[in-house]
Amino acid sequence: LKQVYQFDEGNADMKNLLGGKGANLAEMTRLGLPVPPGFTITTEACMSFLNTTKELSDELKKEIDEQLSLLEKKTNKSFEGDNDLLLVSVRSGAKFSMPGMMDTILNLGLNDETVEQLASLTEDEAFAYDCYRRLLQMFGNVVFGIDMQYFENYLTFYKQKHGVKLDSELTGNDLKNIVIEFKRIILEIKKKPFPQSAKEQLYLAIEAVFHSWNNERAHIYRELNHIPDDIGTAVNIQMMVFGNSGNTSGTGVAFTRNPATGENKLFGEYLINAQGEDVVAGIRTPEPIEKLKNDLPEVYEEFARLAHLLEQHYRDMQDIEFTVEKGKLYILQTRNGKRTAQASVKIAVDLVEEGLIQEEDALLTLNPDMISHLLHPEFSKVALEEAVKVSDVGLPASPGSAVGKVCFDAATAKEWAAQGEKVILMRQETSPEDIEGMIASEAIVTSRGGMTSHAAVVARGMGTCCVAGCSELEIDEFLKRVVYPGGQLNEGDVISVDGSNGVIYLDELEVEVTGTSHYFDTIMAWAKKHARLDIRMNAETVSDIKTGLYFGADGIGLIRTEHMFFGAERLIQMRRFILSNSYIEREKALKVILDYQMEDFKEIFSTLNELPGVIRLLDPPLHEFMPTKEEDIVLLAQEMNVSKNEIERRLKELHEVNPMLGHRGCRLGMTYPELYIMQSEAIIRSAIAMKRETGLDVTPEIMIPLVGTTKELSELKEKIELYLDALMEEEDINVFYRIGTMIELPRACLIADQLAKTADFFSFGTNDLTQMTFGFSRDDAAKYINEYVSKGVLPVDPFQTIDKDGVGELIKTAVEKGRSTTPNIKIGVCGELGGDPTSIEFFDDINLDYVSCSPYRIPIAYIAAAQSTI
Ligand code: PEP
Ligand code: MG
Repeated sequence: LKQVYQFDEGNADMKNLLGGKGANLAEMTRLGLPVPPGFTITTEACMSFLNTTKELSDELKKEIDEQLSLLEKKTNKSFEGDNDLLLVSVRSGAKFSMPGMMDTILNLGLNDETVEQLASLTEDEAFAYDCYRRLLQMFGNVVFGIDMQYFENYLTFYKQKHGVKLDSELTGNDLKNIVIEFKRIILEIKKKPFPQSAKEQLYLAIEAVFHSWNNERAHIYRELNHIPDDIGTAVNIQMMVFGNSGNTSGTGVAFTRNPATGENKLFGEYLINAQGEDVVAGIRTPEPIEKLKNDLPEVYEEFARLAHLLEQHYRDMQDIEFTVEKGKLYILQTRNGKRTAQASVKIAVDLVEEGLIQEEDALLTLNPDMISHLLHPEFSKVALEEAVKVSDVGLPASPGSAVGKVCFDAATAKEWAAQGEKVILMRQETSPEDIEGMIASEAIVTSRGGMTSHAAVVARGMGTCCVAGCSELEIDEFLKRVVYPGGQLNEGDVISVDGSNGVIYLDELEVEVTGTSHYFDTIMAWAKKHARLDIRMNAETVSDIKTGLYFGADGIGLIRTEHMFFGAERLIQMRRFILSNSYIEREKALKVILDYQMEDFKEIFSTLNELPGVIRLLDPPLHEFMPTKEEDIVLLAQEMNVSKNEIERRLKELHEVNPMLGHRGCRLGMTYPELYIMQSEAIIRSAIAMKRETGLDVTPEIMIPLVGTTKELSELKEKIELYLDALMEEEDINVFYRIGTMIELPRACLIADQLAKTADFFSFGTNDLTQMTFGFSRDDAAKYINEYVSKGVLPVDPFQTIDKDGVGELIKTAVEKGRSTTPNIKIGVCGELGGDPTSIEFFDDINLDYVSCSPYRIPIAYIAAAQSTI
């Protein structure tokens, strides 16, 4: 089995085997781009290494040796340093890009002798020793696990002691001294000398990359991004080119379009006389790419040409790493660039308009969950007028508006967030170790680093607000304070961060939701066109309904009528109905409630303007309407003119041990038919009024919740129909309506064929169905479900993403059974899962008619539905 491939043996389709980076290097080599030659060790080799002895096998070593000789021939250089010296980089590269998660070693192959050789070859001692000290540092860190700080601290100390400001001012002699010290650090901490054999360095580095697949932050990143644990990483070994070999050399990172806004213009940064990680690590603040036009005009032109070529070839925005060695440009890496939600919709639309891709491809480039970031609020104009600035020199690295308490380390950020605090993580720069703290933060602020620094890239990927390179802030992580031009911030102080403009303000600023863009609207129109499923909303207030309609909802999938009783005056009438013993009293209360409900329904119908709306009859256990506080009980007793004891006695009667399994849903309708009849009357009277007053022809869909037996549905439906038919006769007018049922109990799924004979439609209440199927109380399960998910007992929280094997199977059964008796029965989903992309794909696959979700999730649902159809 072949385990090692030269770059010119692979291509872009070999991502499984060569990893994303390896496959792209192969593809670029195939395209004739100036890629330094090299070879890739496969992901299979990685997994067999991790699953067996965790040592490089003899066969693998042999293959590596062979490919290395081939590389020496190709480059006409020698790895053991006999003639022109071949140095290599060793990098990880999994199938999916995992930025900052894995490790890189540069300049591998140098030792005490060859460094001298490199110095005389290049006639630049400082350059050679700078390469060597970087190797020692990276090798010490990645292979021997020595904290970077040991090296960085010594470097800072040395520079201070010798009055040197910039790394580039260090002389050959300085660097020699530093190399001696770095070797001493390695020996002292690891109790082993730095290996002088280039081959040994290479083997150890490869092993370290393989092992890094299993380091903790790699695990966290994979979990966050749903990347499987068993696919392994490839290792890329590539001839080094030197961006740190003088002033016609440099290194940089550029995107073919702006990853924050999507603007179609090269966007990136570079550093002259610098190597590898310098740009992304944020240690020196880099120059914007346009300046390269002045520094090295020919290189700039060539780069722009190749960047365009790559974008045309991959038909997507590219994130390209390049190095210039003594005026010669090399492309080291390209991949589809990570981008903000705002950029993702603009780029998708632009690429279609440029004729590079089709609408369908454009929709597939989007991450549905990220779309919600576009609907994020901004600081209100009024608040901004009065706001006090902490700084406005930072880079707008990832858009958004965030408010939170300042903290200075990832652990604190995580801890505070777990306690429900909103936190802003402030660091000089971030590193992969900070990932959990970054996930937990509302925003990330750094004082160093550019638009492509670790903080910026990761924040954009997560959709988290970020201001980077805020150079006027002195962030002291040790003393936990920031000194800014106008004062000082301490840990726990509240600030507001504007990631769209790179500005930081003191205190909490008010936010407001803003409108959408032309690009967003175009994407939504395409999604609607391509989605097979209809998308409805769960809503009952006029403002929510308007929001849903604005996002293109096809109607309402669930109006929870109990939400209409939350006002004080209405609550009193409801309590009166529930608590009074006399029929007359109850009728009186119902009459008042009927009027309220009519007001509501008329408003809803006129807002919906003939779009369908499913109105659910009362669902929650009655005790939810009851007062719990002593003073409220006293007040209610006075109003109803009964004793406090009497109220308390009734409250005791209503009390249920497990109310979710209690006297609720259609069970209420069975004991108090007049309640359901009143609600149905209000619905139909409203529809009649609409017809008479405005000519609108609404077809109400009345829904009966929590049905478990055919009798419940048939009896209630019959009663309601009898009443409504008499009502319409009396009013001498006809409105068309439907009566359907929710499917929320496992039993209902199993008798769906019988239910479908009576019901005009089905709607799956996946919240209750999940609760009842697992026996997980939906109000209390979060505690142990999180633990189940983190321990792998459950793959996901089934209240958030469909449990296909259990709940999903029940739903499938119900759909099949229901359609076996009534082939055209309309079927939807109105639980939370109706807004979850993975679940939507499942509902599309089993051919439901619609899903319904909260208004702000409608764009997400449309895109997920379109992606599922495509
Ligand atoms: C459900 O159970 O999924 C549902 C939509 O109803 P509710 O959440 O109101 O119980
Ligand atoms: Mg329910």
